[in-house]
Amino acid sequence: MTATGGCLCGAIRYRVSRPPRSTSLCHCASCRRAAGGPSLAWAIFAEDDVEIVAGALAVYASSPGVERGFCSGCGTSLSYARANRPGLFDVTTASLDDPEAFPPTKEIWTQERLSWEAANRALPQFAQFSAPGSVLWPHPPARTGAGKGRT
Ligand SMILES: [Zn+2]
Ligand SMILES: [Zn+2]
Repeated sequence: MTATGGCLCGAIRYRVSRPPRSTSLCHCASCRRAAGGPSLAWAIFAEDDVEIVAGALAVYASSPGVERGFCSGCGTSLSYARANRPGLFDVTTASLDDPEAFPPTKEIWTQERLSWEAANRALPQFAQFSAPGSVLWPHPPARTGAGKGRT
């Protein structure tokens, strides 16, 4: 399996060699700002499975230990990596040449979802991270209260 993607201007191109470990649609305020859109879909790959084949990512540290990659020429949000989650490299699903290839399988950070963006009730909903036991829907919350960290 090979999938390719890149930014709006075409300067940055990447290739992935295996399917993602997971996929999600993130509603956190940080992703919202980074994308300039109401939410941001992610395909989470093993770091070794993603290769930048043209151009170079510019990086913005949106939180300590978090690196968001983008194109300095056109501004497209392309990637996300977190120091305390080593070995994984997230790619924005919509920057893939086939954005239908790896659709989100869950929604995360729904506590920050905008009121005018509808939930996809076909997908599990997580208030914050998709930690085991933290799903809000279709099951009742196993625990409540403030979680640690944010994307
Ligand atoms: Zn670009
Ligand atoms: Zn997010």
